[in-house]
Amino acid sequence: MNQFANFIAGEWLASERVKPNVNPSDLDDVIGEFAQADVEQTRRAIAAARAAFPKWSHSTPQQRFDLLDQAGSMILARKAELGELLAREEGKTLPEAIGEVGRAGQIFKFFAGEALRVGGEIVPSVRPGLNVEITREPVGVVGLITPWNFPIAIPAWKIAPALAFGNCVVIKPADLVPASTWELVKIIAEAGAPAGVINLVMGSGSVVGETLVQSPDVDAISFTGSVATGQAIAAKCVALGKKFQLEMGGKNPMVVLDDADLDVAVEACVNGAFFSTGQRCTASSRLIVTAGIYDRFIDAVKARMSALRVGHALDAATHIGPVVDESQLAQDERYIAIAREEGGTVFGGQRVESATKGFFLTPALVTDTTSDMRINREEVFGPVASVVKVKDYDEALAEANNTRFGLSAGICTTSLKYAAHFKRHVQAGMVMINAATAGVDYHVPFGGRKGSSYGPREQGSYAREFYTTVKTVYVNPGAL
Ligand code: NAD
Repeated sequence: MNQFANFIAGEWLASERVKPNVNPSDLDDVIGEFAQADVEQTRRAIAAARAAFPKWSHSTPQQRFDLLDQAGSMILARKAELGELLAREEGKTLPEAIGEVGRAGQIFKFFAGEALRVGGEIVPSVRPGLNVEITREPVGVVGLITPWNFPIAIPAWKIAPALAFGNCVVIKPADLVPASTWELVKIIAEAGAPAGVINLVMGSGSVVGETLVQSPDVDAISFTGSVATGQAIAAKCVALGKKFQLEMGGKNPMVVLDDADLDVAVEACVNGAFFSTGQRCTASSRLIVTAGIYDRFIDAVKARMSALRVGHALDAATHIGPVVDESQLAQDERYIAIAREEGGTVFGGQRVESATKGFFLTPALVTDTTSDMRINREEVFGPVASVVKVKDYDEALAEANNTRFGLSAGICTTSLKYAAHFKRHVQAGMVMINAATAGVDYHVPFGGRKGSSYGPREQGSYAREFYTTVKTVYVNPGAL
């Protein structure tokens, strides 16, 4: 059995405890045994990052560019192989997984450039004889805590800006899917990261994550995951005066108006709701459909769903891979049952037999729902979408905003008037017009509002806000 160690201060360190990483498409396929760090090992990783910080924070933009550019090239060169590993550990289909690895590579290339673009401002003072300089400095040691659904892209979009702006990193991947992050960290080390600049500690949230959050030597926490965990981390960071950023759940609305192009709407909704097994924080999990197109739309979505093949992630014929693990499968089925009990009509949502033992579930569409039902209020995080029928655009917009979340929102319409109004009035961090709510570019900001996100945006040039701190300097040049 392959053993995968933690990476601390430039060395691979085994742990006493290990955890198997099992393929959700084939439970007999074990990718390897991954080290489970304890509190002491996590503290060593933090200390290593602390020790590396003075030098790395004063490295030149060229050094940081070279590291990130090289890591990006290495990721892209191994796209197919790393994609296969990712599909094996997480269960998304091979094309989806290779696409995610490609995205990780592009993110490193983008932030290589950002390392060169850190600038400041010189502002005339309101007082005579003074100049004001506004500069940006790295925050320090950053703790990165990531979820299981994007095992390489999310670590990449946190690690790359952290390093680009001169921070040192301790990353804790989700314990279900550590292999992709393990490979990513190995690449960064091989690309030339000095010892201690990047550290990997695998293990549980309650031990490794908690130690990172509580440590006085970790200056900032960037977290992506569930609302409950995010809120608990937020409370601790506030008490400790620590900078933090949270990306959490979604219940993303996709509005379909009478005047929509039916084919475009069906494609956007089916892709947004069910691809990647619906395990995307930006999934179109609430379809809000006006009465005039409702019957045609539902019939077409059901026909499209019936043509989707659920199966092994590495099978070229598969459209939808397995659910990530047994407890997520149980959660998906629990919500389908709750939706039924509350009066919804369920199409699909059945377990599928396959040549291999895995967590296979057909996509589920729940119709006859109302906005107060739990299926429309709580995140399922599986291939399950609900439909709310509404009278007109105004009711659709109100319904779209009738949620505690605000990550992504979409509308399918051919009307410029409604598209323009929706863009302006929907309460979400990201808006899609005639496109799926999931699937975003790597060079622009990502994040939400309301209960979905907290703190500055991730990705694109906006990532600088979290990974740097601002210094204002007053200079009296006359006395120099
Ligand atoms: P999770 O909250 O269970 O775990 C996320 C990470 O936090 C894991 O690494 C976990 O080990 C760690 N953790 C758990 N308890 C902790 C604690 N007490 N202290 C510190 N760390 C702790 O989430 P998950 O099940 O891995 O991921 C699914 C969730 O992630 C969904 O709700 C989804 O919407 C969300 N998500 C959000 C985005 C976004 O950008 N908004 C992107 C992807 C996933």
